[in-house]
Amino acid sequence: MPELPEVETTRRGIEPHVCDQLIENVILRETRLRWPISAEVSSLQGRQIREVTRRGKYLLMHLDQGNLIWHLGMSGSMRILPTGSAAETHEHVEFQLSNGQALKFRDPRRFGALLYCAQDPLQHRLLRQLGPEPLSEAFDADYLFHCCRKRSAAIKTVLMNSHIVVGIGNIYASEALFLAGIRPTRMARRISKPRLARLVDAVRDTLASAIGYGGTTLQDFTQIDGKPGYFRHELQVYANKGPCKQCGKTIKHLVQAQRSSYYCPECQS
Ligand SMILES: [Zn+2]
Repeated sequence: MPELPEVETTRRGIEPHVCDQLIENVILRETRLRWPISAEVSSLQGRQIREVTRRGKYLLMHLDQGNLIWHLGMSGSMRILPTGSAAETHEHVEFQLSNGQALKFRDPRRFGALLYCAQDPLQHRLLRQLGPEPLSEAFDADYLFHCCRKRSAAIKTVLMNSHIVVGIGNIYASEALFLAGIRPTRMARRISKPRLARLVDAVRDTLASAIGYGGTTLQDFTQIDGKPGYFRHELQVYANKGPCKQCGKTIKHLVQAQRSSYYCPECQS
């Protein structure tokens, strides 16, 4: 499932191809995504794309009038191809642009979303309650300590709560906890502030490194040129059914809040 690095990889990939371009044609092959695509999206001809930003796992496309909010859902990806190139299966949306390129959105499982928002997208009901960006200064040891102090939930569950911090899903929560030496099951309020400070650094390092590798491809995610995200080869614990790459002990697997958790019993406590 795309997390922050995959969305940021997508944003950086499409940005130079779509910015300042006019939308010449919108093709909607399937409007039944997580929410139906509204009629406003089909009448965007002539609008100009000004900027592409990201908030958590949402891609925000700022037009000269109005905004689009995209979400890659479970299996979404975007590609830039010449206008007129054949549609792939599950390619639900195509924006044909004035530079002869087309932005194509593919989503086999259709949990993604494309919403039109006339006003400030940051105030949209899906976005306004989100916690800070993990790569921003607002996400620091004091903040995480404050969030954890009264929580008896497991630290991994806290990291994956988008009201606390955005964009961290199962893969990067697992990896950051490994890097910080903290077991995913440890109760949040029992973790000392110095250890939480290490976790903040680990979250930042893990996300920044994953962005550098173009994200992680486990199934459907591709970069905009169709290549996979190469961080998969850098994963230490996630989906590792063999030995720990640091100490050689067998990685443990358990199900935590309906999600797979992986940790090293030696390196994480
Ligand atoms: Zn280990």
